[in-house]
Amino acid sequence: MQILYKSTRGGEEGVPASRAILNGLASDGGLYVPETIPELDISLEELAGKPYSFVAYEVMRRFLTDFTEEELKRCILSAYDEKFDTPEIAPLHKTGENTYFLELYHGATIAFKDMALSILPYLMTTAARKNNVKDEIVILTATSGDTGKAALAGFADVPGTRIVVFYPKYGVSPVQEKQMVTQKGDNTCVIGITGNFDDAQTAVKKMFEDKKLAEQLSEKGFRFSSANSINIGRLVPQIAYYVWSYARLLEQNAIRSEEEINIVVPTGNFGNILAAYYARQMGLPVHTLVCASNENKVLYDFFRTGVYDRRREFILTSSPSMDILISSNLERLIYRICGNDASLCAEKMNSLKADGWYDITEEQKEALRCFYGGYCSQEETKQTIAALYKEEKYLIDTHTAVAADVYRKYREAEKDPRPTVIACTASPYKFTRSVVEALKAVTDIPSDTEEMDDFALADLLQQVTGMPVPKAVEEIRNAPVLHDKVVDACDMPQAVMSFLVGR
Ligand SMILES: *Cc1c(COP(=O)(O)O)cnc(C)c1O
Repeated sequence: MQILYKSTRGGEEGVPASRAILNGLASDGGLYVPETIPELDISLEELAGKPYSFVAYEVMRRFLTDFTEEELKRCILSAYDEKFDTPEIAPLHKTGENTYFLELYHGATIAFKDMALSILPYLMTTAARKNNVKDEIVILTATSGDTGKAALAGFADVPGTRIVVFYPKYGVSPVQEKQMVTQKGDNTCVIGITGNFDDAQTAVKKMFEDKKLAEQLSEKGFRFSSANSINIGRLVPQIAYYVWSYARLLEQNAIRSEEEINIVVPTGNFGNILAAYYARQMGLPVHTLVCASNENKVLYDFFRTGVYDRRREFILTSSPSMDILISSNLERLIYRICGNDASLCAEKMNSLKADGWYDITEEQKEALRCFYGGYCSQEETKQTIAALYKEEKYLIDTHTAVAADVYRKYREAEKDPRPTVIACTASPYKFTRSVVEALKAVTDIPSDTEEMDDFALADLLQQVTGMPVPKAVEEIRNAPVLHDKVVDACDMPQAVMSFLVGR
């Protein structure tokens, strides 16, 4: 069955997957969604015991139907290789009774974004070839930290692509900055800007919309594209690991055939949990999707009240990748619960933009019954890391801790003993300072660690817990700085042009 894509705002339909991946965002500002969700019409028993790449292929081929078998398999094998520090790619770790942590942080930048960003470059260059796009693809990204590095690692030295990343020079952590400015690859460019993340983001959006710039670029043989999490080419690879986790549970005889599981996801932009929802729509036996928020609990309030309201204070937390008030990918869920009515969906998105809020009807709320929203404070985040380490000798990062705590609350409230998969979205070594802080309560880590830099803290963490410092951290410790350009936001287009044609 051929799966085509359409915009959540109604402006486009009948778009093949490869086009949707190349375009990123639909021309009317909506997000591409599959016109129908394909069925997972292969028995899950058949997937049990198979390698990750096998499961990924079976899931992705049902969505990306205009890719040939050979093309898609080549993308998958190029992505999920030795860049990951375990051949399992996404291992499951059991703790307590029936709780399984799905570790999605074994890729190049030790966060779950590697799961999608290691394959997106291959999907995109394949899509370009299929559509006779001869131009070199230039990925433009504004980042507040994690996405930039994962995109750089994914696109570095991929033929036919260039990547430019802008980050707020004075707005990322020292490790995040070091990760980016030491990036190798002839096709990479990392530029600090003197403004904040919003300035970078706004300037990048403007460049995407600048028709004259597009013409100039096209004359030189370039075209812009986006590695943002709204790209369907990032969403589809994420569906695969939920199906994979189910197949692993079957293989380990942890569940019976057809048995329902729950999935818990620490959520920011709503991409990761939407992938789990799509897996459920495909037919994966999932009972509840637990949406875990930090103190920026817009989604918790939304699931409880049916009102999405971003008009509130933005809180900086210890789980910064979830500090978000506008969860872009929620639009795809809204579209579904509006009965695939694009004009209704567009209306809500417009009122979010204009007034900062929208609400849904009781009937639409009914369609969200498979979701459970919860949130976790920073104090609870710390306690969760400490408790899990003390009881199970299992170390998790702050984002995963938000999920683990919300799951505890869910289980207590709902008395639901079903086997549960918790998405583990970052290595504890990515947020070392907060993790070390949390462990002080249950280990003999000294209290005076403020003066230590993140590398010293990583060594301390390894010493205390025995969990080895990942390669990704070792690699940047003594790596030379390769990118040191800093510009004002208004000079970003010039900086891009000089990178592309000025050498
Ligand atoms: C991006 C990110 C999240 C949030 O994922 P969404 O798909 O945006 O909901 C959670 N944890 C970590 C570590 C992340 O980097």
